[in-house]
Amino acid sequence: MGLVADCERLSAGLLAQPVNAVSSLAYVAAGAALAVPAFRTASPRRAERLTFAVVAAADGLGSVLFHGGRFAGGQAVHDGALLATLLFLGTHDLAITRCWAQRRALTVYAAGTAAIVTLLLAWPGMTNVWAAVLACGCLGAEVAVMRAGAPAVPSALALLACGAVLDLAGRTGGPLCQPDSLLQGHAAWHVLTAAALWEWGRHRLGARPPAVRANPAPPGRVSYAGGRDRQPGDVGLGLKDGALPEGISCCRRRQ
Ligand SMILES: [Zn+2]
Repeated sequence: MGLVADCERLSAGLLAQPVNAVSSLAYVAAGAALAVPAFRTASPRRAERLTFAVVAAADGLGSVLFHGGRFAGGQAVHDGALLATLLFLGTHDLAITRCWAQRRALTVYAAGTAAIVTLLLAWPGMTNVWAAVLACGCLGAEVAVMRAGAPAVPSALALLACGAVLDLAGRTGGPLCQPDSLLQGHAAWHVLTAAALWEWGRHRLGARPPAVRANPAPPGRVSYAGGRDRQPGDVGLGLKDGALPEGISCCRRRQ
């Protein structure tokens, strides 16, 4: 597994897998592309967006260290960043469906990240298990948040699917694996999943929210994800009542 499964032949140079390592910088670019607009605009979810940008960039750092293969701790940083990314996606969706304010969402995320670090230190060989659990959680949370009224992000899904196909086809023993080629399936995975994170982030954490879908709540009431009602005055996503972003039915007052 790991470097051996990623097809690219190990080099004796500075980077063990140069193509896979350099392509990892796509995550850093995605993080920068998410962070820069957050500084320029007064998005109500700026702190979440900046946190996500840092997490995406950490993915890049961990991946460079991992595929570089010359740096102690590369695997740990790589695994930690991967799990932190999945945790962020799931926590953000959970926060929307539960009408959490931004501060609460970030507090839960920080606690979850601490739990991940503890798990990695206690069972360093279990990353794939934690990743599978978190991925299933993300999938469930994404379905839940879309049922709550948030629009899907099909571009992110398509990028993720294409990346997975190329990664599988290009891994060691796969039909597209050419160990000495500059075109590596795993490098494509890096670039495409980095783009998927950017797409997801700019749609879900953007300064200009997407259009809202039909809201099931009757006029004069405050709707809640899944059809449950909240009391007037409730806030979500760290905003004052009445200033909630379009696109999320959670805690949205109907007049
Ligand atoms: Zn990789």
